[in-house]
Amino acid sequence: MPGTTVRQTVLTRAKRIVVKIGTSAITDEAGRLDPRAVKRLAGQIADVTASGVSVTLVASGAIGAGMGELDLPERPRTLPMLQAVAAVGQGQLMRAFHDALVKRNLRVAQVLLTRGDFEDRTRYLNIRNTLRALHEMGALPILNENDAVAVDELRFGDNDIIAAHVTNMQAADVLVLLSTIDGVYDGDTLLDVIERVDGETLSLATGAKSRLGSGGMGSKLTAAGMVTRAGEAAVIANAHIPNVLKKLLAGENIGTVFVPAKRKLSSRRRWIGQTARTAGQIIVDAGAVAALTKRGKSLLPSGIRLVRGTFEKGATVAVLDETGAEIARGLTNYSAEQLQAIRGLKTSQIAKALGDKPYDEAIHRNNMTLST
Ligand code: GLU
Repeated sequence: MPGTTVRQTVLTRAKRIVVKIGTSAITDEAGRLDPRAVKRLAGQIADVTASGVSVTLVASGAIGAGMGELDLPERPRTLPMLQAVAAVGQGQLMRAFHDALVKRNLRVAQVLLTRGDFEDRTRYLNIRNTLRALHEMGALPILNENDAVAVDELRFGDNDIIAAHVTNMQAADVLVLLSTIDGVYDGDTLLDVIERVDGETLSLATGAKSRLGSGGMGSKLTAAGMVTRAGEAAVIANAHIPNVLKKLLAGENIGTVFVPAKRKLSSRRRWIGQTARTAGQIIVDAGAVAALTKRGKSLLPSGIRLVRGTFEKGATVAVLDETGAEIARGLTNYSAEQLQAIRGLKTSQIAKALGDKPYDEAIHRNNMTLST
């Protein structure tokens, strides 16, 4: 699908969008929050909102703003210092957006999240409800990672990925990643469109991180891949282009657009496939791989070769082929211990091995999301 088609069929018709702004796009050379940059973006968000599009903003820059507020010459290195600086800066960030938007009669709402808030199904649904209620009352949700509390495995560390989860959570039509780059380059050529994010696309990521933000091109491509696999569009564009948001939604040919998959994944499948934390791995044989990927079948114990990890019934597990490539993720009907006992067995042999056979399938098709 050519870029123009995505722009005309998805971007110009978008009703719900998620905009992610990177740190370097709203801070100045010295790393301080740049009120003019905030004002420019806020003005566009107000215009777009007034035209009937519902916007969720994921704003980085808490650490940058905190550095400015505290007069720090450089970014601290230790985690507690970074957390403290983010705590100082987050308020500044919100104030800047508040001051810029109150004049346009838009209220702002701060939502700070950690990885666990997405991985826990109940908290995930709570966030979705809160965002819906905020949009209903006409307030702009402004999201960021809860840097003051998130450490190590609790942490995404990257707002591109948070923005992708939030796009999928709300089934927003487009994820707009705004930073200080024009889009994805292949050598010197700015790509108009990327049809599909795969390993080759990810190798386009230079790895070079911008000086202040923590998300390089790799995380942007990963985020775009998460969104397009769920059936929504993504675009990477330069925040410094005047009226970039309005231009994108008018279908103008700027940035790099990503083509959504033909079929939209259901909300539950998005969560199973991309958001839930996996508690273990099931390695399956070639027959099971074909049944899952080509014939749309459930996973039966007969195709299971190995089980890794300790998990209970109902846990999210990754299904891998024998080379270690991930095929799918799903909710298991049996614990790791039970699967160990029934792996490789025919359906008719399960009851004898376990003393009971509550399910034919190890993972039912309805509880499974293919990974590619
Ligand atoms: N949460 C960080 C901040 O507000 C930014 C993370 C990122 O740049 O992706 O400073």
